[in-house]
Amino acid sequence: DAILTLRGLRKSFGETEIIRGVDLELLPHERHALIGPNGAGKSTVFHLVSGMLQPSAGEIVFDGRHIEGRPPQEINRLGLSRSFQITNIFPRLTVFENLRLAVMRPHGLHRKPWTLVSRDASVREHTERLLEQVRLQGRADAVAGELSYSEQRSLEIAMTLAADPKVILLDEPMAGMSNEETAYTAGLIREVSRGRALLIVEHDMQVVFALSDRISVLVYGQVIATGTPAEIRANPAVREAYLGEEVAA
Ligand code: ADP
Ligand code: MG
Ligand code: MG
Repeated sequence: DAILTLRGLRKSFGETEIIRGVDLELLPHERHALIGPNGAGKSTVFHLVSGMLQPSAGEIVFDGRHIEGRPPQEINRLGLSRSFQITNIFPRLTVFENLRLAVMRPHGLHRKPWTLVSRDASVREHTERLLEQVRLQGRADAVAGELSYSEQRSLEIAMTLAADPKVILLDEPMAGMSNEETAYTAGLIREVSRGRALLIVEHDMQVVFALSDRISVLVYGQVIATGTPAEIRANPAVREAYLGEEVAA
């Protein structure tokens, strides 16, 4: 059974329907990429799922519960987390302080009652464990604003993991990175998504094909295909609508 199901999801801004009946199933523990041309509606889908926007119609079922229309904090508390924007890092706080703030958010604790036994120690331990997971343990005392771009992304990913979510949504986490940084971050995402479900928007098709169990292609507000990387690569409709020669190569 799917951990996240979108059924007939629609979203209009004024007269314009941007999301035009999206159906998508995210399976537990799968890495699933949402790809498509610029303006297709990928980020809007993320805003709808994470509760930042209200759908005009349709259903969003997460872990057996209808979440459409619920506020972002509640959806987050249920176990669905999306990457923070860069502005959610406090640039003058240290890496450790930034991450500890994410860990200390109430929803980060209430799903782990053992942390209440000894709050300070457990918050610190949890923060340290997250830093290790994203390979930033050596940078704990660095000022966040002075991290490299990919290190800032690693910190954001760690913040996304703070409440141990079942589902993570990452919107173009490699945007603006060098090839080397992209490869590094792809490896990190592979590691931290183990045991969870990942829905990722990414334009680098090499990364998408290497990372994904399945791929859905969003074009003009509709999912035109879902399948394994091999199926997507071989799909003529997908090639025509989006991938073109990039994949044929
Ligand atoms: P993608 O992430 O696939 O590049 P977006 O979801 O950001 O696409 O945007 C899809 C379309 O919706 C774009 O044409 C964009 O201009 C439009 N759009 C996004 N947000 C709004 C909004 N708040 N009001 C009006 N139009 C919007
Ligand atoms: Mg875009
Ligand atoms: Mg986008």
